[in-house]
Amino acid sequence: MNGARNLNSRINRLEQTLGTLPCTCPDSADLAWPGHQPDTHCASCGGERLIYPLANHPRSAEPLIRQALPIIEKAFGTDQRADLSTLTDQELHQLKTALQTVEQATTYKRTPIADGDSR
Ligand SMILES: [Zn+2]
Repeated sequence: MNGARNLNSRINRLEQTLGTLPCTCPDSADLAWPGHQPDTHCASCGGERLIYPLANHPRSAEPLIRQALPIIEKAFGTDQRADLSTLTDQELHQLKTALQTVEQATTYKRTPIADGDSR
């Protein structure tokens, strides 16, 4: 009885510890946009995932920005602010292209709210 309770509390503590560690799986980063908020904890290891917020749905640029996720992850690392100096020129270029494409893909979107604002 006591042993089982000890084991449970040890598992709980382990889960809490794992939950605060960065996720080490390949699926350790994801994108968020309004109306889409992925789980910040990895389903496989319980680790903390990097969720990169976008202002809008990436639309046609989604594959491109997803390809750049490892670069985003590298830039943000374990810290919450981006350190672009850790990126190579090629990675910087890829990230910039992806972000610009997202911007272009979403700029032409007209939402009723945006239309209502531009009077
Ligand atoms: Zn994981």
